[in-house]
Amino acid sequence: MLLCCGYLTPAPNSLQWEYTSCFLYTMEHKEEAVISPKTGVVDGNDLLGLWQAALGEIEIQVSHPNFVTWFKNSALIEKNENGAIVALPNAFAKEWIENKYSKIVLGALRALEENIKKVEFTVHSSKTIVVTRAAAHPSQARETQQSFPEFRVDTETNLNPRYTFGSFVVGKSNELAYAAASAVVEDIGKRYNPLFIYGGVGLGKTHLMQSVGNEIRNRYQNRVRVKYVSSEKFTNDVISAIRNKNTESMKEKYRLVDVLIIDDIQFVIGKAATEEEFFHTFNALYEHDKQIIISSDKPPKFMPNLEERLRSRFEGGMIIDIGYPDYELRFAILKAKMQERAVALADEVIGHIATKIQRNFRELEGVLNRIIFFQKTRGMEITLRVAEEIMSEIMQEPVKDINPNVVIRAVAEVFGISPAELISHSRKKEVVEPRQIAMYLLREMLHLSYPNIGDRMGKRDHTTAIYAYEKVLLEVSKNQQLNQRIITIKELINKE
Ligand code: ADP
Ligand code: MG
Repeated sequence: MLLCCGYLTPAPNSLQWEYTSCFLYTMEHKEEAVISPKTGVVDGNDLLGLWQAALGEIEIQVSHPNFVTWFKNSALIEKNENGAIVALPNAFAKEWIENKYSKIVLGALRALEENIKKVEFTVHSSKTIVVTRAAAHPSQARETQQSFPEFRVDTETNLNPRYTFGSFVVGKSNELAYAAASAVVEDIGKRYNPLFIYGGVGLGKTHLMQSVGNEIRNRYQNRVRVKYVSSEKFTNDVISAIRNKNTESMKEKYRLVDVLIIDDIQFVIGKAATEEEFFHTFNALYEHDKQIIISSDKPPKFMPNLEERLRSRFEGGMIIDIGYPDYELRFAILKAKMQERAVALADEVIGHIATKIQRNFRELEGVLNRIIFFQKTRGMEITLRVAEEIMSEIMQEPVKDINPNVVIRAVAEVFGISPAELISHSRKKEVVEPRQIAMYLLREMLHLSYPNIGDRMGKRDHTTAIYAYEKVLLEVSKNQQLNQRIITIKELINKE
């Protein structure tokens, strides 16, 4: 069944599939990405689409640093009746994924293609890997060449050209951060120095910071030296410099830049040697009016291990947060991502995704990737129903026995009332609203029946529960503050 191997050369104008920050797939002949339901013919391009969708699933299940570390430069290279083969860049990644993530990988692939019963891992030795192409008939075998998922990061600056201001969609939750980032380009090293951007995972910190770097490079070319560094890379540099007794050259490397962008600083903080080195680098640059841009998952004042001298440095600059996106921004981002991928979905479908996925853009992209995968490979028209079905599969939350009382307690706590008040018959606004939210959550998180919800919430009629659920559902898509509150309550419940 496995017929031929070959190569497919990437073309600059070809359809580009991209995947989060680290993958860029380029493929020619987009019509080849189709899998025929009749013959089951699978070609190299289908492997790309399938792997891309699988990565969307995997990303939701593993932490972001792990995802980037272990799955970057991975590819699905073969799929046949015996299972699937995933190629990884080195033996270390292979061993790690085999031990830690093989179940997740298999689960992600099986969720997309039920007949995949087994997954194996292998190491690919070069940048270009050979893709085995399976065809139903030998006559269908064709020479194809497949480009390896490219990692088009500029080796000098570490910037990924995909992150630009132009592709950054601005909404209420990120407009201040966007304005500050744009201002840095106009006034490097002066006005907002350091620029400290914080916010939750997947809300666009990396995208925004790298946009500053890319814009500066476009404008000033080599006249302004920019360096982007993940905290992981910075830490590794410090460790290897210490090990090789070569700290001087590391110092040189970092202190020679005009704009230093350091991502996810929370991972540097608290590691004595690295934090110390960072402090000196920071000072050296700062004293020479060099621009420093930092991101973190929380503001300096909530970083307990941050040394005082660094905290005061950070607080001397501009600290700005990126909040959770409202419905409008989620909708706009989905539209933009679809445009990038040259695909179309009905507004109704986009609206549904934007209503359901509230927490971060990476998740939004993951869901979108999966829906596009279905659209392309199964030739399915994506109606609202189909989208709902696809999403309900992905969004099945980990099965966890949440006791309804936990929900009631969490809502009461967040609103500062007692659980007894919450289920009482009080008509005070301060109680009615939280009560409706509790009913909404009992339905959404625990899937309780409406009569059951009514019963638990003070022996109310089931129509009251239906009304509450629908009201909050509608409100959540419009009211950012409420949305944020509900996310907080869910986090509280999940921590119990
Ligand atoms: P963070 O660094 O905060 O975890 P990222 O910058 O990696 O988040 O963003 C996650 C994904 O969402 C990326 O693919 C990014 O391009 C996309 N994204 C985030 N914010 C925006 C935005 N405002 N406009 C367009 N895409 C965005
Ligand atoms: Mg990031």
